[in-house]
Amino acid sequence: MNKGKKIHEGKAKILYEGPEKGTAIQHFKDDATAFNNLKKSSVEGKGVLNNRISEHILNSLNQIGIKTHLIKRLNMREQLIKLVEIIPVEFIVRNIATGSLTKKLGIPDGTILSKPLIEYSYKNDQLGDPLVAREHIIEFNWASSLELDLIKDYCLRINDFMQGMFRGVGIKLVDFKLEFGRLDKAGNKEIILADEISPDTCRLWDVQSEKKLDKDRFRKDLGNIIQAYQEVARRLGIMHEEANISEVQFGKPKAVNLKKK
Ligand code: 5GP
Repeated sequence: MNKGKKIHEGKAKILYEGPEKGTAIQHFKDDATAFNNLKKSSVEGKGVLNNRISEHILNSLNQIGIKTHLIKRLNMREQLIKLVEIIPVEFIVRNIATGSLTKKLGIPDGTILSKPLIEYSYKNDQLGDPLVAREHIIEFNWASSLELDLIKDYCLRINDFMQGMFRGVGIKLVDFKLEFGRLDKAGNKEIILADEISPDTCRLWDVQSEKKLDKDRFRKDLGNIIQAYQEVARRLGIMHEEANISEVQFGKPKAVNLKKK
């Protein structure tokens, strides 16, 4: 499928004009960034894995009635999506306290929250995506009160579904970030889920060992980033053992000589 002009280049993805009006092509890069772009690197294979994982999760959400921007995955790194007007707010859903929540409020890391906590961050790199209140969002017309009610309902349903999906494969869904957009439908604006859901946008811990299977491996220099993303894909049944080398082009396993000299 031919791509049109570049519409926007973000930290992890590029958006191109799609083949028809109202569509776009979302390209997943291997670039990894953290701490508002202060830390940057390229992680080979990350874009391919996020494309697959996000496709799987958005399709599953679609099956439970959550409308998303995803039309279909086109190839290893690209998805055909509906072009939406992005609401400039990151919706963060937390089940366990960690990350910025523990840093800002001094809550002990790993505290299990009594119910899911939804936070709002204003999407603005220059300001470092600051935490904002519902009242800021309404006051500055980023979204209406009605839209926020609807989005809150979607966030909780998505959290319920994803917690169950991950729990079934031995993973705790600690927290995640969602983005929503407005789709023009015969003059009416419909709110749909946009962006991606992947180990770049979620915190995922192994149930038994609490090993991090997400972008914190990059943020905290824990190593084995790709192996962790692959583990998530494998557990979700997206990628099979034999797929890693041919499709994602990871290095072949090296023979290990176990005999001591
Ligand atoms: P925190 O606020 O603790 O840094 O992040 C909470 C959750 O939202 C984490 O799962 C994190 O990955 C996700 N998140 C928050 N902001 C961003 C962002 O700008 N980009 C990405 N990829 N994820 C984010």
